[in-house]
Amino acid sequence: MIFLLCFTFVLANFNTQYVTDELQIQHTDLNSSKTYLLSMILTQIPKNNYCLPLLQVIVNNQIYNDTLAYSIKADIQKVYFQSTDAITIKVSCNVLDYFQNQKNLNKTMHFNLSLHEAQQHISLPCQFPYYGQNCSLSIQQIYKEFAVTISIQNNTWFYAYAILDDDNYEIIVENGKLQFGVSIISFDKINTTTLPTFFQDFIVLDSDNDENLISLSHSKKSSNSIYIIGFYNFNPTQIQEITITITTAFQDQEFPFWAIMLLISIVIFGLILFIIILCHFRRQYKKLTQIQPALDRKVLKKYIPTQKIDSKMKQETCSVCLLQFELKEKYCLTPCKHYFHEQCLIDWTTKQANCPVCRQGLLENEIIELLEVKSNRNRETKETKIQEVIQSKENPPSQTYRDLPFLQLSSSPFRTQCKIELDSSPQGGNSPQIVQFDGSPQNLTNRNLYFQSDGIVESQN
Ligand SMILES: [Zn+2]
Ligand SMILES: [Zn+2]
Repeated sequence: MIFLLCFTFVLANFNTQYVTDELQIQHTDLNSSKTYLLSMILTQIPKNNYCLPLLQVIVNNQIYNDTLAYSIKADIQKVYFQSTDAITIKVSCNVLDYFQNQKNLNKTMHFNLSLHEAQQHISLPCQFPYYGQNCSLSIQQIYKEFAVTISIQNNTWFYAYAILDDDNYEIIVENGKLQFGVSIISFDKINTTTLPTFFQDFIVLDSDNDENLISLSHSKKSSNSIYIIGFYNFNPTQIQEITITITTAFQDQEFPFWAIMLLISIVIFGLILFIIILCHFRRQYKKLTQIQPALDRKVLKKYIPTQKIDSKMKQETCSVCLLQFELKEKYCLTPCKHYFHEQCLIDWTTKQANCPVCRQGLLENEIIELLEVKSNRNRETKETKIQEVIQSKENPPSQTYRDLPFLQLSSSPFRTQCKIELDSSPQGGNSPQIVQFDGSPQNLTNRNLYFQSDGIVESQN
């Protein structure tokens, strides 16, 4: 509902009661040399009223007074102005966003609006915490860490201020399940006539909680910043009590930035140190675990290769673990002809380089030596066998040849005598043959004797 009223005469006393949620009055004929006082007095607010009355005076398109909530404190708004042309007066109900969706929201309000001629009004700056048109209003200071209980009139603002240093704070509000709204404004100007508007950052406190916590972050670096806290009591009929305490936010103070950085650097340093120690230990561990086995794996591979267990080997047992071989397993045969499970021999040769059964050395040179001896023996056996065959063909089997030493008697300038007696050969049964040499000068020539089982053959050079 909008009223547009035009006054054609100067109103010395204009006093009318309105029932509206929004009203606009235009006044065109005011004396430019005079000062006027416009005042609005709220007379009735419905029970479910969640609107905050707003008085605006627009002089020559300039908003003279707007939504300054402090003016509602005493349910009265007083605006002094000097007019040259036309003025527009707006009265409206300002519903908070928080209540926009409420059912049966009655925005109607009753109020008186009056316009009076007033004395010349000089607006002097007030000394904080005093404020208002004639500096008659003041706000209360709240000190840190002290609980303060305050009474707030129905549908009314209450203001307090706190001077806080460069820290973060929390405001604990104990409202005993009552509905309050709170707005906290950082305030820099010491000398001011008006308080800032409290509709920005306005929080409606949760009425389900006995205690509400509002964090107050200090954005400015300047010390002694003033914070003005405005509370609004939404109860239309009752005066309500509220207890507030401003405390330091401990969490933030306990962990300042430098402490967090220090903590992070300690953690990073510790992590790096841990990684270095871990790498060092791993290297040491590798060294310890990679001890050279007693027998080189290459030698094992080269001379003792692994073989699959066949049905014949299945009957045998490994001398290390004493288990019978199984078909799926593999075994190793040493040059000394002993067999073991592949793993059993590997485990054994890690500690010692010999055969677990016969202790034959299994180092490369020892194996080579063993193999050479074996091959020599084989060759000799072969040759002996061949000779035996040949001799058995040439001589009757009764005759046996023996390797006898080759004896050479050197000539000597002295007279020597030598007697050689052959032991009787077992097959002959003859009396021993005796050869005598006379070392006389006429026998100076070398004499070679060949001994055979059946006699001595003498030859001369
Ligand atoms: Zn074994
Ligand atoms: Zn062996």
